[in-house]
Amino acid sequence: MANVGVLVFVLLPLAVALLAIPVLIGVYVYRDAKRRGMNAVLWTIIAVFVPSLIGFIIYLLVRGNYSDMACARCEERVSEEFVVCPNCGARLRPSCPGCGFPVEADWSVCPRCAAPLPERQDDIVWPIRHADRTLPKILVLIIAVPALLILLLLFSFSAFSTSRGVACMMSVSIDDYFEQDVSGEAKEEVRAWLDQMEPEGAHAYALCYSRHGEPENEYYYLVYVPDAGNSANKGIGMSGGLFGKALSVDLERTGDAGSLLCISASAQKRPRLKIKVDGKKIPCEVTGVDFEPTGIE
Ligand SMILES: [Zn+2]
Ligand SMILES: [Zn+2]
Repeated sequence: MANVGVLVFVLLPLAVALLAIPVLIGVYVYRDAKRRGMNAVLWTIIAVFVPSLIGFIIYLLVRGNYSDMACARCEERVSEEFVVCPNCGARLRPSCPGCGFPVEADWSVCPRCAAPLPERQDDIVWPIRHADRTLPKILVLIIAVPALLILLLLFSFSAFSTSRGVACMMSVSIDDYFEQDVSGEAKEEVRAWLDQMEPEGAHAYALCYSRHGEPENEYYYLVYVPDAGNSANKGIGMSGGLFGKALSVDLERTGDAGSLLCISASAQKRPRLKIKVDGKKIPCEVTGVDFEPTGIE
């Protein structure tokens, strides 16, 4: 149960972070709306309580119409196109000396009255804009926390499901296989399968049959490894991962092509078959069949 402890240890801070997101959004929207002269309380309520962040997104879209700039001298709220501060009269941006039209610092002619513009205009008090350092952090949190949660849940799910899954394996010579108690139909099919096969070294061939069951399905594999018949070092294991379980079979190279492996395993989804000979994974051709080929049951 150590897993559960670890999970709580990691999940708890994440859950707290998840709860903290609306609070952060609320504080941010309140302060930002206030600075822009918007209705701070109303926008805070919308941003926090309209579900799925829709309120927050609407706020971010709408606030573009409201300037967040202030006069550097008197802190009066001003907007981009203001030439002078309406409160203290400070010059906020360059303008045409002829017609007063707002111009850019690097323009040389006024676009409105065609008067030449002076090289520099000195007495300008540039308005201040508060750097928005909070918004990127909130956005990162909004994306990262749920993503981490989902990853963790996926991970824990696969970690928990690893503990289950039972597998068993036995080796039988091809002659004995046809002597034993496998159904007649299966024997014929398996004989045909072996006959049509053109076995290559360092390859494995398998027939797979699945039987539906609760809570787990049963999977039966009849495996033919021409390189590793009667292998002494037979090991089998189930391993779980994010992308489903794998059934690993460890064999020793014997060069004996005269035997078959009968494997059964229970799992929720068909496990991948990983055959290793002398520790090296070899390709395995798996063919699904509609009869039980191993005779294990
Ligand atoms: Zn001012
Ligand atoms: Zn002008």
